[in-house]
Amino acid sequence: MQTQENLMLTGVPVSPGLASGAAFLFQDILEREIRAYSIEPHQVDSEHARLQGAVEDVTGDLRRAADQMETDIDAAVADIFRAHELMLRDEEFLGGIRKEIEHDLVNSERALQRVLRRLKRDFGSRRSEFFRLRADDIEDLGRRLLRSLAGIRSHSLERIPLGSVVVAKRLMPSETVFLSRRSAVALVTQFGGTGSHCAILARAMGIPAVIQNSDLFQMLTSGDEVLVDGLRGQVVIRPGPEAKQNFHVEREHYDRKHAEAVSRAAEPAVTRDGYRIPVLANIGCREDAEKALENGADGIGLYRTETFYLACDELPAEDKLFEEYESVIEPFKGKSVCVRLLDIGGDKPLPYLPLPPEPNPNLGRRGIRLLLDYPHVLQTQLRVMLRLARDHDLTVVVPMVSRKHEMKVVRKMLLVLADELGTERIPRLGAMIETPAAVFLMDEILEDAEFLTIGTNDLTQFIMAADRENPFVATIYRDSHAAILKAVSCVCRQKKGREIAVCGELAAELNQIEPLLQAGIGTLSVAPPMVPLVKQSVRAAQAKPV
Ligand code: PEP
Ligand code: MG
Repeated sequence: MQTQENLMLTGVPVSPGLASGAAFLFQDILEREIRAYSIEPHQVDSEHARLQGAVEDVTGDLRRAADQMETDIDAAVADIFRAHELMLRDEEFLGGIRKEIEHDLVNSERALQRVLRRLKRDFGSRRSEFFRLRADDIEDLGRRLLRSLAGIRSHSLERIPLGSVVVAKRLMPSETVFLSRRSAVALVTQFGGTGSHCAILARAMGIPAVIQNSDLFQMLTSGDEVLVDGLRGQVVIRPGPEAKQNFHVEREHYDRKHAEAVSRAAEPAVTRDGYRIPVLANIGCREDAEKALENGADGIGLYRTETFYLACDELPAEDKLFEEYESVIEPFKGKSVCVRLLDIGGDKPLPYLPLPPEPNPNLGRRGIRLLLDYPHVLQTQLRVMLRLARDHDLTVVVPMVSRKHEMKVVRKMLLVLADELGTERIPRLGAMIETPAAVFLMDEILEDAEFLTIGTNDLTQFIMAADRENPFVATIYRDSHAAILKAVSCVCRQKKGREIAVCGELAAELNQIEPLLQAGIGTLSVAPPMVPLVKQSVRAAQAKPV
């Protein structure tokens, strides 16, 4: 562990702004120092009883999850939880833990940790994908057991102190939903890239974030002071007086410039040559919508509905979903609102919907592909959209489109459900253009899409063949690469009079705004705190080349 003062690190800036605070180290429970201790022979029985209590707890959770999946989704998904339950009873696993307790006289946590390590080593040494995935299942069971043994019922990110700089190796989408917007002032992670979910979350929260590719846990102790500069990608650990003073000056300068942009946020964004460009907001919850309104957003360009699904303990029913969506978009009544169909799978798994493992989830059953396999989940959402369209100017956006058939099925289902509900107000249907296939199949997709929005975060990973979360290819994953701009131009040339927006993070890269407008983009959608800055850049841009 290093304790050096004024340790300066440079990483990749992924969310602008400057903030300082006390480090909060967020660690996966499996990586944490667990409570491990020796026991006396006479304590073996009570330790077995402790372990048995945790097993029963976890069994109950798994059974509830399986039953719910059986009714809400299908038997195949429910079987995953049942398989976890079987693994939990497996002699090699549970018997192994009991033996450790009995023979080595250690507590349940220590015994569990040893067995997990052994199984991981055994599985990991086998080449087969099957065993690698089983190792993940066993780790997940291990997490559940450790949580139950520690009596943990809530997630540790729910209880971080005010003013924390959250430091993590990586944050999964299902964890970031717990991050309190009041408590976290900045984010520093070891893994990820500009298009990673963690970076998107930080921009949405309006907090600076840096990806720092070194072992931060070796350099920091919880509570250490940290300065985060999300403009230059700098992180200073335990800063000295001079570093603090410089940081203070930089922060004042940034805040002043930002305040100038905010003071004009409510005004429309009109280019130098007189084109009005709607600047919309990407949101995930009500708080984002309120922030979007405060920041002068002209509408909602992308409502990522998975935020709500990720925060639920079970698959939400239609009325619950309707209430949530209604309350989230309510501040934008009378303005244009694009709600995206649930975009999960691969990179954004739902904790209560552990889909069968896939060898390459980013290229797997995601977005609309998954929804077409679970029509019940899709229908619930479309019914909710039809109900919302009665009072809102609504567009339903379909994620991960790669075949014309996908749009056709959604349109058909929407019409059938509208008939059933007896409503004539059908929301507009839009497609996300985020696969190369969609770029090349524009005319077919346009048969069923009245609106297009380019998701450059995914489009970049597929065009550049570089995973958006993988730090080793972070320099290849660049959404401002000429290849992406060419794809955007290609889409704009085929638009047949449709409105085309960009809702990926590229739309918030201030020096890319003019090229996007000149390529033919007419609408931008960005994280709420970025709206004023983007409007300012639009005002300085020329929409048509001179
Ligand atoms: C995108 O891919 O650009 C996008 C906006 O969607 P998400 O980041 O949610 O995948
Ligand atoms: Mg996407």
